[in-house]
Amino acid sequence: MESRTTRTEYDKRETCRNCKGYGTLASGEKCPVCLGSGLVDKHYDVRITVKPFVKNDHSR
Ligand SMILES: [Zn+2]
Repeated sequence: MESRTTRTEYDKRETCRNCKGYGTLASGEKCPVCLGSGLVDKHYDVRITVKPFVKNDHSR
């Protein structure tokens, strides 16, 4: 059975989940994750494996 693996990398700017984009925590402290900007740059390193679906395959 053949399988193919694709690897992809990309960067994405997202709203900081730690402070929900406010830059400060509920306590008033500056968010340590985004350092107060409310945004974070995330680096994705993704590996996708594709293999055929075979009906009645019990050999996994
Ligand atoms: Zn934050």
